[in-house]
Amino acid sequence: MSDLWSVDEHLTDILRAVRPLDPIELHLAEAAGCVLTEDVTAPFALPPFPNSSMDGYAVRVADVEGATEEFPAVLRLVGEAAAGAGAGELPAVGPGQAARIMTGAPVPPGAQAVVPVEWTDGRMTSHDEVDLAGEVRVFRPADPGQHIRERGSDIAAGSLAVAAGAVLGPPRLGLLAAVGRATVTVRPRPRVVVVSTGSELAAPGAPLAPGQIHDSNGPMLTAAAQRAGAVAYRADAVADEPATLRGALDDQLSRADLIVTSGGVSVGAYDVVKEALSQESTVEFRRLAMQPGKPQGFGFLHPGRVPLFALPGNPVSAYVSFELFVRPALRAMAGHPAERLHRRRVTARLEADAPLASPPGRRQFLRGSYAAETNTVRPVGGASSHLIAALALADALVEIPETTTEVRPGDQVTVVLLD
Ligand code: AMP
Ligand code: MG
Repeated sequence: MSDLWSVDEHLTDILRAVRPLDPIELHLAEAAGCVLTEDVTAPFALPPFPNSSMDGYAVRVADVEGATEEFPAVLRLVGEAAAGAGAGELPAVGPGQAARIMTGAPVPPGAQAVVPVEWTDGRMTSHDEVDLAGEVRVFRPADPGQHIRERGSDIAAGSLAVAAGAVLGPPRLGLLAAVGRATVTVRPRPRVVVVSTGSELAAPGAPLAPGQIHDSNGPMLTAAAQRAGAVAYRADAVADEPATLRGALDDQLSRADLIVTSGGVSVGAYDVVKEALSQESTVEFRRLAMQPGKPQGFGFLHPGRVPLFALPGNPVSAYVSFELFVRPALRAMAGHPAERLHRRRVTARLEADAPLASPPGRRQFLRGSYAAETNTVRPVGGASSHLIAALALADALVEIPETTTEVRPGDQVTVVLLD
């Protein structure tokens, strides 16, 4: 038993070895989901100029003092302030005057407040229909600054807009654009190449010859890598020939920040990955105290020190291994801090028809369906690692510790939430 690695030891070894990718400059649209590596300050205030928050009339406060429906203030229109109007295009508002103003338009010189159109007899119809040289009746008084968004009321010039380390979600990207950025410095999405191994594998959609199965790990792990924030590419499956696999891996080295293989790591006669990586790599093959996913390979391919994960071939083993080991590594490479590398774990009540046995000395990951409303989890399918139909129904893993040999219906168990 002493040659077995624990799940935690394997994971610690991986996270100690992988490094965040070097930052690059990306256009905002390409930086979604990436981790920012620079502090971005606002070079100017937001809003950059006082502007109206309503469609209405820009007025002087004294002119509308005491205005009512019965005794409206009658103001002479001197023009219009439209969104995007430059300083030279704004009418000056003098005593007894008003200017029509649109939401987002600069407040014209002389005006002190905006009266919403609903409090006037004006209409915000199209340009041509309004007599901009006519009059407007205002039915209510206005406080100074009313419906005016002051310069700098959102963010002050020189202040921090988005701090280094932030993940760029849509609102932050919007803010970066608002403060004038077109590009930002971020850690790139890791580029992942997924290589399935096995002479029995046919490409998705290809007809099956006797003895063949479709490569399901390829599409599954490619999608899992994308979900983990990577740019993922599925290479053609490789037959159980070490030289062919070695050639295929060498071909991918230039385009990959990380390589994931599946299959060929157990103790069978055709352990192609083990054989192909016996030279010119530091990939180490281990047996983990884990079910599923006992055989695992991890290390670096020379040249360029590209991390390689050699996952077991059974689809359930491959997927569970990806979630537990590859996903945290990808997130570390993308620049996420230690506390954000792992899937969320919750404690939930086990719903099952009978007690479930768990192997001693192994950490077991059963597939489960989690119900947040009741905080319960129900196992789907059995423990066998070829059960991809059950895997497809699962949205969680039930994590049963090495020391536990049985869990009973109603027990509190640890649940790893998948998406
Ligand atoms: P191996 O570790 O290569 O012996 O594979 C273990 C089991 O997983 C065998 O039943 C394989 O046929 C199956 N397997 C390996 N790779 C894949 C794959 N890419 N898609 C589906 N099944 C696979
Ligand atoms: Mg195989």
